[in-house]
Amino acid sequence: MQQQIYWHTTVQMSDDSVLTPIPSKVDVAIIGGGYTGLSAARTLAKDNLKVVVLEAETIGWGASSRNGGMTLTGLKPAMQTVIKNYGRDLAKDLFQCSLDSVSLVEQIVKEENIDCGFSRNGHLLTANKAKHYDALKGEVDFMAKEFNHNVRLVPPKDLRSEIGTDVYHGALVDEVSGGLNPAQYVTGLAGAAARAGAMLCAQARVTQIERRGKRFFIQTERGSLEAESVLVATSGYTGGVTKKLQKKIVPIGSFIIATERLSDELAHELSPKNRMIFDYKHFLNYFRLWDNRMIFGGRAAFFPENENTVSRSGEILRREMMQIYPQLKDAKVEYVWGGTLDFAFDQMTHAGEEDGIFYALGYAGHGVAMATYLGATVAKAITKGNIKEHPFSKFGFPGAPLGLYNGNPWFLPLAGVWYKALDLIE
Ligand SMILES: Cc1cc2nc3c(=O)[nH]c(=O)nc-3n(C[C@H](O)[C@H](O)[C@H](O)COP(=O)(O)OP(=O)(O)OC[C@H]3O[C@@H](n4cnc5c(N)ncnc54)[C@H](O)[C@@H]3O)c2cc1C
Repeated sequence: MQQQIYWHTTVQMSDDSVLTPIPSKVDVAIIGGGYTGLSAARTLAKDNLKVVVLEAETIGWGASSRNGGMTLTGLKPAMQTVIKNYGRDLAKDLFQCSLDSVSLVEQIVKEENIDCGFSRNGHLLTANKAKHYDALKGEVDFMAKEFNHNVRLVPPKDLRSEIGTDVYHGALVDEVSGGLNPAQYVTGLAGAAARAGAMLCAQARVTQIERRGKRFFIQTERGSLEAESVLVATSGYTGGVTKKLQKKIVPIGSFIIATERLSDELAHELSPKNRMIFDYKHFLNYFRLWDNRMIFGGRAAFFPENENTVSRSGEILRREMMQIYPQLKDAKVEYVWGGTLDFAFDQMTHAGEEDGIFYALGYAGHGVAMATYLGATVAKAITKGNIKEHPFSKFGFPGAPLGLYNGNPWFLPLAGVWYKALDLIE
């Protein structure tokens, strides 16, 4: 199994063979060239603003070209928790944003002619235990009553119409979610931003941001520039250059394997409706088909991707995949890779402004749709000056309890043990 991002073999990714020069002065400088940054850049450039995306590596290098491609409704925390923490009205607005985010991806893909296989295949949330299925039973009425959103139960006896395994105790289907090829999507989004007039600068790591009056002076590894506004779109790769944000975001590794191409019959048996599938655990598995390959992911290690965590994860994920799908015991696993997720301490996504710097972060594994949406939304708020009115700005962005985190996630091994223990008892 080779350590390589399978998605990168399906598209010509943006590279750094020709570097766009760093402009000296812009209206908006965006740090980070993933969905958040590129969606914001597209929106701002279409509004005739002079905008630059400053990306440390190559455009699309981060989570945006490595993920599972699941374009999901909802937020990371259960909507019951969101109502409990923020009240009914705000929860309704936040959920509506999640529906809008999937629609926005669909709209952009169509408008910009992005060839990324976007399709509303729906998602399947599987119950690992009977009590999970009991909890899912409550979801159907709850989502209809509170959010006017229809989801459907799949009882254990009907599971084979949705998934080729008997290990689960039932499932829930949400037909509104979709799926796409993440690398093709981010490459297409970059093309759209560039066509609209945004400057996309690879190999331009931002090393310093200094505010002088109302303007920002930004140093990059390739030169400096001046900007009216700054948007931080660095997700799980947020670093010391935005220290305050770094202290609010925990980088967590997530890993994926891709099998060889399976026969049509086997692929159909594994996922007859080609759903985006994930389970109920904290240490969850998520999987889906693409081009008859099983793309199977999980939080196999908690630390971000490096040669070690990727190679260990490959073996762990293969074992987990075979527990669900024994039919895959002879299937060759051809690729393994990892990427970094961004978790806020409340597991919520946050968009706002601090010290005059805009941000959208904390997608917690729900960023394909939400990062696209918040990039565009924050971009509009930058021009209108109304970010505080947006639902994702209406609640606090907490740091670590007792301030026990300075950007070095020393507690990740403990968190791993904690969540594994919770999966045993819950
Ligand atoms: C393995 C994996 C699977 C996932 N699966 C799903 C899924 O199925 N569905 C879903 O909704 N979400 C999923 N996610 C999450 C989703 O990919 C992210 O939420 C989303 O891509 C975030 O986009 P972004 O643009 O904010 O950040 P990113 O795409 O991570 O981009 C941030 C960029 O900032 C750059 N950067 C950092 N610091 C600097 C600096 N100082 N100067 C310049 N540039 C800098 C980085 O190089 C990076 O390219 C997954 C993530 C991973 C890792």
